[in-house]
Amino acid sequence: MDVEVLGNVGARFKLVARGARPSFINAIRRTVMAEVVIPAVEKVFIAENSGVLYDEILAHRIGLVPLKGGEGLVRPSECDCGGKGCPRCEAILTLEVEAPEDSFTVYSGRLKPEGSVFVANNDIPLAVLNKGQKIALEAHARLGSGKEHAKWQPVSCAAIKYEPIITVDPEKCSLSARCVEACPKRILAIEGNALKVTSIWDCTLCKECVEACPNGAISVSYNTANVLLALESEGSLSPQELIYAACDVLKNKFESIRISLENKEAS
Ligand SMILES: [Zn+2]
Repeated sequence: MDVEVLGNVGARFKLVARGARPSFINAIRRTVMAEVVIPAVEKVFIAENSGVLYDEILAHRIGLVPLKGGEGLVRPSECDCGGKGCPRCEAILTLEVEAPEDSFTVYSGRLKPEGSVFVANNDIPLAVLNKGQKIALEAHARLGSGKEHAKWQPVSCAAIKYEPIITVDPEKCSLSARCVEACPKRILAIEGNALKVTSIWDCTLCKECVEACPNGAISVSYNTANVLLALESEGSLSPQELIYAACDVLKNKFESIRISLENKEAS
């Protein structure tokens, strides 16, 4: 298998795996979404909230704020406390604010870390307060994975697609440019006396170009041997770290099958 990075801009990442089974790349995608462990706020203790947002809504919004870190934490299910919550399995963030003016927006950056977990994005609005209104609370973050709750899902987008193949028959092509106009992704262009595909991986296989061509010169298909994996991280881990973490999860699962089978044979 050969892997090529097609794009790596900020939180967005695209790679092409050539010679890989789609099911294999899809396993990585599903593991990233459901089984990579990251921190998220699980409990919020509100001491004061004189704003208009109900406590429950404020707590829900805080639960969805992407968090980073969590080194040294264990999952509550694996902790000595039995999941009740203790410094080994929970990290605390506090928020204390009094609005100095009307229409004062409280952002996620005001959640101050008191442990190993901190906010991944400081610019997420949590509440709007009028002058003199206060919020004081303590948020407890725990490790978890996407299959437990969406707040532990580390990606906002995780998708795969096959390599598109666009074939142009030069005998039939009259260079009418109707396909160039019809393509919603604008990946067709007439260069010299030929129709060219400028960016094949942007093709969504919609076949608008096939419909638009009056001479039937274009055909669109796909190659299942080459697969594109696109991830958009929500900030807890970089896309590359997510792929490494997913590979580790899969590796550990396969290892546990092997060990289990070996133990059965030995007994
Ligand atoms: Zn604990």
